[in-house]
Amino acid sequence: MNYDHILVRYGELTLKTGNRNMFVNKLKSNIKNRLMPLQGYKVRANRDRMYIDVHEGADIEEMMSRIQTVFGVHSVSPVVRIDKEIDIMKEVAIKFAEDFKSGETFKIDVKRADKTFEYDTFELQQMLGGYVLQNTENINVNVKTPDHKIKVEVRKDAVYMYTRILEGEGGLPVGTGGKTLLMLSGGIDSPVAGMEVMKRGVTIEAIHFHSPPYTSDQAKQKVIDLTKQLAQLTGDIKLHIVPFTALQKQIHKVVEESFTMTSTRRMMLRVTEKVAHEIGALAIVNGENLGQVASQTLGSMYAINSVTSMPILRPLLTFDKEDIVKKAKQINTFDLSIQPFEDCCTIFTPKNPKTNPKLEKVEYFESKFDFGPLIDEAVANVETLTISKHDDLQKQEDNWMDDLL
Ligand code: ATP
Ligand code: MG
Repeated sequence: MNYDHILVRYGELTLKTGNRNMFVNKLKSNIKNRLMPLQGYKVRANRDRMYIDVHEGADIEEMMSRIQTVFGVHSVSPVVRIDKEIDIMKEVAIKFAEDFKSGETFKIDVKRADKTFEYDTFELQQMLGGYVLQNTENINVNVKTPDHKIKVEVRKDAVYMYTRILEGEGGLPVGTGGKTLLMLSGGIDSPVAGMEVMKRGVTIEAIHFHSPPYTSDQAKQKVIDLTKQLAQLTGDIKLHIVPFTALQKQIHKVVEESFTMTSTRRMMLRVTEKVAHEIGALAIVNGENLGQVASQTLGSMYAINSVTSMPILRPLLTFDKEDIVKKAKQINTFDLSIQPFEDCCTIFTPKNPKTNPKLEKVEYFESKFDFGPLIDEAVANVETLTISKHDDLQKQEDNWMDDLL
């Protein structure tokens, strides 16, 4: 079939009547971003659907599979757009039917949005169905459970015909829900947590704690690569890398060993909150999962969480690990995450971390040293990188420039 358009449906978006324009515009620019660097199309968006006019020769299947992964897209269909003339509709119906296998059944499914069209729904079904039956062999009509539905939408501007509906990711367009700061560790969970909140429309920046020389450049590169992979879903993402060595050393000096994990998390959170304020983020996101490890029991969360009053979003809180792994594979972060480079927490992990650390005790140990200045210093020395999904291209361009200079 020679498709000339992709129909994009928004689903949940239609509920947001108040700021629908903003949602639609954001979705449109996210789709364009996802289609880069593909060429040969034009997007026309209106309040409840989007049409992508695909020029001849462009790879429509590749375009659709990309659009399916854009948050806010409910479904997509490859469609044929034709003039509102019954003879043309008949010919297109035949073209669809030619792809059906012998013995299969079909139904003509008409949506007549233009109530002024000369034939009503019933007449169209009869005329098109009859024509297909007369001009094909070995296929039949089945109204209740057809193998194929030939969808015919009669709208004001044209008639759209299609048979396939491909499901999209759903959710809301990234960029419509404010900004969050994602604590990105290099493990399996936190990239998935980032994806989950983006799916609800929020933008993320990422923060990573590293402790050179105890953590390697490879560990840092791994987090850069993970951020780049997340950027495939959305566009550029800022990554803030925090030098954490001095704080970690100091924690191990003054805090009893079994409480160092709790204290480490509390310091991370204090730094993260400050960076969040600086960048205008309204919430912190992490990959915590209830009961998974010592630092993620309710008791630990209580002791850790008490250093901040900022909302902490934990989208994976109740997930099973297998589900997290499955999602990590879907967004291509799994293989990056399982690379063996250790991050700052693994290296300083105590032998027997408290699973139910008492807040008063942690506070007592921490009161033996004024951590404030070290936290400020860490914030002041944050290295911020802008990670683009296209940065390979940019690098190539840079090298090319180097040759000229
Ligand atoms: P992950 O797979 O995301 O590392 P995890 O199951 O290993 O999670 P923890 O190591 O206890 O769990 O970390 C819990 C959360 O704390 C992480 O999901 C992440 O959001 C945050 N976190 C841990 N280490 C770091 C780090 N070095 N930099 C930034 N955030 C971190
Ligand atoms: Mg981890």
